Amino acid sequence: MDTLSINSATYYLPESEADVITLVNQAKAQNKTICLRGSAHSFPLINTLEAEAATNKNLYILLAKMNTVHIDKDNALVTVDGGCHLGLDPFDPANISTLENSLLYQLDQAGLAVPDLGGITHQTVAGFLSTGSSGGSTQFSFDDALMSISLVNCGVNGAEKVTFNRPVPDNPDDPFYGIGVATIGLFGVIVSATFKCVPRFNIVGTETTTTEAACPIDLFGNGSGDKPSLQTFLEQTQYVRLMWWPQRNVSKMVVWQAKQQAPTPDFKIIPYQEVPWVAGSPIPLTMAADLVFSAIGTWPNWLLDAMGDTPKYREIKEMVDLAFYPAILPLICKFFVQDGENQPFQDVWYNGIPMDNQMSDRLMPVWFTELWIPIGKTHEVMTTLLNFYSEGPQNTGAFSCEIYATKSSPFWMSPSYQTNVIRIDVFWFANNSGDPVEFYKPFWALLQQYNFRPHWAKYLPGGDSPQGVAYLKSVYPRWNDWMALREQMDPGQVFVSDYWRGHLGIAPVQ
Ligand SMILES: Cc1cc2nc3c(=O)[nH]c(=O)nc-3n(C[C@H](O)[C@H](O)[C@H](O)COP(=O)(O)OP(=O)(O)OC[C@H]3O[C@@H](n4cnc5c(N)ncnc54)[C@H](O)[C@@H]3O)c2cc1C
Repeated sequence: MDTLSINSATYYLPESEADVITLVNQAKAQNKTICLRGSAHSFPLINTLEAEAATNKNLYILLAKMNTVHIDKDNALVTVDGGCHLGLDPFDPANISTLENSLLYQLDQAGLAVPDLGGITHQTVAGFLSTGSSGGSTQFSFDDALMSISLVNCGVNGAEKVTFNRPVPDNPDDPFYGIGVATIGLFGVIVSATFKCVPRFNIVGTETTTTEAACPIDLFGNGSGDKPSLQTFLEQTQYVRLMWWPQRNVSKMVVWQAKQQAPTPDFKIIPYQEVPWVAGSPIPLTMAADLVFSAIGTWPNWLLDAMGDTPKYREIKEMVDLAFYPAILPLICKFFVQDGENQPFQDVWYNGIPMDNQMSDRLMPVWFTELWIPIGKTHEVMTTLLNFYSEGPQNTGAFSCEIYATKSSPFWMSPSYQTNVIRIDVFWFANNSGDPVEFYKPFWALLQQYNFRPHWAKYLPGGDSPQGVAYLKSVYPRWNDWMALREQMDPGQVFVSDYWRGHLGIAPVQ
């Protein structure tokens, strides 16, 4: 079987379910832990697992060669291998991903679509499903489209393929709802999944940038005049994403919203521009933003390197420190977050909904912690955050916070289990010096009162922290059922990495 070295980890590249079964049995026989990689968008999960490569305790698997798509047009069903990317992954280390072999493109060619997508589509089907990822809509849901899932698990008799179908008639206690979404690699290798599709569609939308006060949404209230409350806006808009720049003297809200439209022969694409395009490309401005935010995030290290610890250096540092948040950052933001922007756009579904695809995650790398909170708490959450941000730059940082919403999910470990949620996605620019966990801790403590459930693929509070294992158990009513299923699917813990053992409190096999 082919292998590929990525960040010092040697990944096996299975080509068939039989290969996967061989690898799972091999891991069991060698007492190794299986670590799965999709497009490695989960940070710090994937890099933590890859950093363990030298210990030789893990067996790494990449399903890049398992990317087949079977479309049953008559029944609007698609069965897709777990390693298939949703869209093009521009950084696929196996160099296999193309637009043409992606799931979404092939669906579109067949006149079909899935009803919702996340902000980017580089991910693999298995990575997206297994982390409970989803898009910014309370009206449409990726989870709702899942009809069936097949995994290679490692039960008492070793590796075997098992399939779970959506129950008919529906039954919320069926194991399908424990296994279909958010199994974070712990139940086995997802080899394929089947989705019910909808007819392909276009989206039309706008992005507006205003000050918080001028925002067409009553961001911190219950709705007033013709301004809906944020909760109402999130519930009544088909696709939505807000980007909040909460720093004093910046105080901007960027509101991206869109709705579906049936395709027409004369439809003309007007692409969304996340940053203004130069010579038909977002790259020059993305690079400029990267340079500026890297300079901010590593301040004052580079000045110290250039000048040494001299009186002049200290004088400049003091001057910039004093002026940075009140004056310099607002000036920079005027350039990148342009007040008064009102940008209409329209596109085909698979290019339009993922509005962040054009921002290179290499040129503009961002890390996140993301907290999903029952949508009924929107008003309280927003006022709590506003007060928290008003305490100063130690809370705002120099970057933005993303706000979006997701439809209630029937899957037991989805962070939107049984409730529509507002999602608070706290950004940390990856080129910053410093520790993102220290920045995130106050957010975890602050928002615990709203029973947040964290996104599995982003920074999580430590397992033994106040928002760790005991807390997670308290916010997932089906926790024990799910753990019992995990035990059934993988009694020997072939899939339990130290990362998840710590975060979920799974005791080692005796
Ligand atoms: C720039 C950016 C934008 C994002 N936007 C969104 C968004 O809009 N909405 C959202 O909800 N999330 C979003 N995410 C998070 C992203 O969807 C998750 O990190 C997702 O897991 C990525 O899929 P992947 O293929 O990269 O999986 P990876 O990150 O490679 O893997 C994640 C985990 O998935 C599991 N896994 C992977 N393959 C398999 C398999 N074959 N079988 C079983 N388990 C497997 C493993 O546990 C693995 O550790 C974003 C992340 C980034 C970096």
